[in-house]
Amino acid sequence: MNITRLSVFTVKKIVLGFILLFGGSQAKYNVVDFVLENGLRVVCIEKKTSPITFFSIWYRCGSKCDAISKSGAAHYLEHMAFVANKMEFSNFLEDVGADKNAFTSINAICFHELVPKENIETVFIHESRRMISLDIDDDAFLSEKGAILEERSTRVDNDPNGASQESLLSNIFNREAGGIGIIGWKHEIQSITKKDLYKFHRKWFAPNNAVVVLSGDFDLNQIKKMAEKYFGKIPPKKLPKRVKKTPSGPCLKEIKYGSPKNGSASVAEYIYRTPFSSKESLKKTIALEVALKVMNRPASFVKKILKDALNHATEVAFSYVDRLFQYDIVVLEIASPSIDDLGDAENAWRYLKNKLAYAGVLKSELDAVKRQELVSLAYKKDDIIEMSNYFGWLLINGYSVDEIQSIDDMIQEVSEKECNDLLREIFSQDPIAIFRILPKSYDRE
Ligand SMILES: [Zn+2]
Repeated sequence: MNITRLSVFTVKKIVLGFILLFGGSQAKYNVVDFVLENGLRVVCIEKKTSPITFFSIWYRCGSKCDAISKSGAAHYLEHMAFVANKMEFSNFLEDVGADKNAFTSINAICFHELVPKENIETVFIHESRRMISLDIDDDAFLSEKGAILEERSTRVDNDPNGASQESLLSNIFNREAGGIGIIGWKHEIQSITKKDLYKFHRKWFAPNNAVVVLSGDFDLNQIKKMAEKYFGKIPPKKLPKRVKKTPSGPCLKEIKYGSPKNGSASVAEYIYRTPFSSKESLKKTIALEVALKVMNRPASFVKKILKDALNHATEVAFSYVDRLFQYDIVVLEIASPSIDDLGDAENAWRYLKNKLAYAGVLKSELDAVKRQELVSLAYKKDDIIEMSNYFGWLLINGYSVDEIQSIDDMIQEVSEKECNDLLREIFSQDPIAIFRILPKSYDRE
């Protein structure tokens, strides 16, 4: 694994040189996309630089598919499907020097393997079994529950970022819209049974609810035959209706979160709704991403004014949360060393946001960000794992291969006017919530 990554990195540097010399030339790869009769989509990204293949299978059932009072079920299932009775597969992968892992997001559960190309058939055999059946061993069920509770304790209960994130999401999104984080509430994780996980698997693990993404070196004809042989016979399922993720209400909420860990430092997050759905407009999504990257440049007009006028330690960041998670919200985060500085910064922001749309994005800054975005995309396309993940996230959100391949052009086409119009539209609204992370000792109203 390490050796492979090292050589990929060397290739990256050469490609960067190439891009700089020949201006925008793209790394060569070939994408073939086909759908089996049972609805399984297979996207093959051929790039024959090393004799390795990266296989990933994405199920459209992340934590937003957790049943009521069973938060954490998707993540628990990911753990069980990964470990349960898979020793044979694990041993095999280890023997051939392969690497494997899995993860759960709000939208998806993904399993992936990086293997020497001659071993890809074994991956097809095991991943198709994982789709068909789940076999949960009692001991493994309990020990994974322990591991998951430990994971919650590390990533949420004892991590100020994780804990505040959970508090924010559960306050602004209703429960059906995924308002609880991926890991789930502690008491609900404890109450999950084997039966719940079997039910989750039966409901969502279906060929018409999955996308396979292969990247790297492989024989395309063999892949088509293997996909048909191992996955083609699995019947499709009638899938339950999904709930669209929207903030729970239009009313402004002010949420205070006392952090036990952040000393005297204070943070204010202003949450704004985007005026469009990221699933419906990839072009606007790209333009907004670019516009916020311009705003995040150290010399951007908003950052400069907020920082100069206040305290140099004040940090300001804009983030788009995020087409990958379908929350369709923009967050302005102001972090200050003390509560008083935070109050000044918030006042300055209220004054500045009205001006932002008229001087927010300048052409010279926009051009620089567009260049950075194109170079970072070129890096991604050169690394078979990065490229596979890039396609996987976008495919799972319903974008087509053609749309994904036209993102380079979309970045090129973003204009100042488009950016400023979007910023004006977003920041002229009231935020849907203001979230303040304050020192735990803070008790003034
Ligand atoms: Zn986990």
